Amino acid sequence: MSHSRVDFGDVLSMTGTELSELLHEEGAPRFRGRQLFEWLWVHQIQSYAEISVWPIPLRRKMDQQHPFRRAHLIRQQAAPDGTKKLLLGLSDEQRVETVVLPHRYGDSVCISSQVGCAMGCKFCASGLRGRVRQLTAGEMMDQVVVANRLNADRVRHIDLMGIGEPLDNLAAVLRFLQLAHDPAGLNFSYRHVTVSTSGLVPAIQRLADSGLPVTLAVSLHAPTDALRLSLMPVNRAYPLQQLIPMCRYYVTKTGRRVTFEYLLLSHVNDGEEQAHQLGRLIKGFPNHVNLIPWNPVAEHPFQPSPKERVRRFQSIVQEYGISCTIRRELGQEIDAACGQLRLREEEPVSP
Ligand code: SAH
Ligand code: SF4
Repeated sequence: MSHSRVDFGDVLSMTGTELSELLHEEGAPRFRGRQLFEWLWVHQIQSYAEISVWPIPLRRKMDQQHPFRRAHLIRQQAAPDGTKKLLLGLSDEQRVETVVLPHRYGDSVCISSQVGCAMGCKFCASGLRGRVRQLTAGEMMDQVVVANRLNADRVRHIDLMGIGEPLDNLAAVLRFLQLAHDPAGLNFSYRHVTVSTSGLVPAIQRLADSGLPVTLAVSLHAPTDALRLSLMPVNRAYPLQQLIPMCRYYVTKTGRRVTFEYLLLSHVNDGEEQAHQLGRLIKGFPNHVNLIPWNPVAEHPFQPSPKERVRRFQSIVQEYGISCTIRRELGQEIDAACGQLRLREEEPVSP
């Protein structure tokens, strides 16, 4: 990737190579760029003044020419199950929510990719007020950094499943994946990163072609176009006959199985007939179905499926030879579960 200072504007979104070019342009040796990358992501400095290995004039110059302001924690809430929800303030005072989920095999952080969401799904809290703006790669990185710091460095997995549609912000997401993977910084394995999408078909193709072996999760939620369209407006532009073949393409290209997320809304999409339709739709290629009982959102009229209906749905899908699990729900008590994150800019902040 060629250096371009204007592309993403801020040092928090630049690769080590780009920072080297930037420092070179500022008249410093190129190795200062790699140093800056490490001080940003390993030492997690708040300002250039902290870079003790730099000459003071260089610290001052960079502070004047390329100032940065990191995302900061406004408040956190913890649920009895160990889930933590963080409210972060960004450099322009916009806010995003980030969730840390405890797991036996290493905690995961669920990060936001946009302020709000433009997709308008009928069951979700994140899109209720539309999309306010894109997040930068650096703002996604900072969510991981803050979560990891609060969690004693135990975060091992990153899920792009918070607020926003990651593939509606593909350039910044690809950049974020590259930054998070860099061994000189956070050093996340691509295999420990999941990108969840409502099904933007051309962007899935670009992600597949990027060659980064991340896990793709596709929010399916319905096995027919008519039902899916009634829940997810995105289905108008990208119906199932385009989406499913693109999932197969992703598997061929990356060698990784695709996860289908299917949230269960009582007597809307959780019947036996729909389970059979789902089985027929996706059988025959490497995939996995994750059933999510709907997490209540006050503004939407649905009910979560009762346990018996969830189990019945699961066993029918399994009859098709498809691996199908029920997601352990975490963080509901603090509205931190899937689809419950939302914009909170107008609420007063209590310390
Ligand atoms: N925009 C992306 C990623 C963020 S949403 C996407 O839609 O995939 C993360 C997941 O939560 C998606 O599968 C989404 O459909 C699901 N979701 C949204 N609202 C939900 C709710 N109220 N209960 C359970 N899951 C929900
Ligand atoms: Fe956006 Fe995903 Fe919520 Fe749909 S489910 S509105 S795509 S965040």
